[in-house]
Amino acid sequence: MLVNKKIVLPIICFCLVALIGGLVYATVNTNATSETDAIDFGEFAGELQKTVENQCKDKEDVNIVFYESKGKDIIATYGDTNIKFKPSSLFKYIVLGIGINEGVVQDNDTYTCNGSYKVGELNFRCFEKNGHGELNICSGIQESCPMACVEIAKKVDDATFYNYLKKLGISLLDSNEKDSPKGLNIIPTAIGNGIEVTPEELLSVYSEILNNPEIFSDTCRKSIYEYMSCEAMNDEVVYIEGICYSEAIEIPTVISVIKKNDGFLVGMTYSEKHDKKELLDITKKILNDYTL
Ligand SMILES: [Zn+2]
Repeated sequence: MLVNKKIVLPIICFCLVALIGGLVYATVNTNATSETDAIDFGEFAGELQKTVENQCKDKEDVNIVFYESKGKDIIATYGDTNIKFKPSSLFKYIVLGIGINEGVVQDNDTYTCNGSYKVGELNFRCFEKNGHGELNICSGIQESCPMACVEIAKKVDDATFYNYLKKLGISLLDSNEKDSPKGLNIIPTAIGNGIEVTPEELLSVYSEILNNPEIFSDTCRKSIYEYMSCEAMNDEVVYIEGICYSEAIEIPTVISVIKKNDGFLVGMTYSEKHDKKELLDITKKILNDYTL
């Protein structure tokens, strides 16, 4: 018995030590993993939020949202990012995507902008009174000529166009037939005036375009991305810029910035009293200070 105790006790002790050691190791390890993930992202988002607040403080009527394009998370905001506006020219990549995905847009397509286009009783105008003349898709994007979107929309049927909007989470303006393709007025919608979105919604749509192969095919997304560089300002950052008007809230300008190669989408609304360049510089500085 004595011999047995001498053997059994150390074994029990060894087992206990191993068990406790194992438990401690497992706990530390689990905590380490979950805390590392949480702390990294939390710290980053918190820092970014502080920077945005510092950079934008004292600026009334500036609304800005930083969106993490892969994880689809809003990581920093300033002001009211749920303000509704008509996306106007910011909508062109969505129309372009629908056109490319439906096979009605080819790289060598050209069209002519005469300054206006009549659909039934409605007359649509380009901001360039006398028209831009002949354009291809890329020069149309550079000039922000809405007529390319009109041309694309003419080639897509209402039900198909409507289904894309539904999949992207874009609602039609309030009408009795808001929930059916009958409520879609395709030409005003194609030039970004027949719908209203918030900066958050628009960024989420851009994220879908850039990252979700279920709505737009890989080839289509690659092509949209290449067209985005038609208005690129430098190699690192693609600025997508649009002048939008929302009568209801009197916010005249909306700018959206996309950083290439993962990372941020940034949406911004501000009123005319702000200097566009100053706000862009602030955004650029924030983008340069942080990389995801
Ligand atoms: Zn035009």
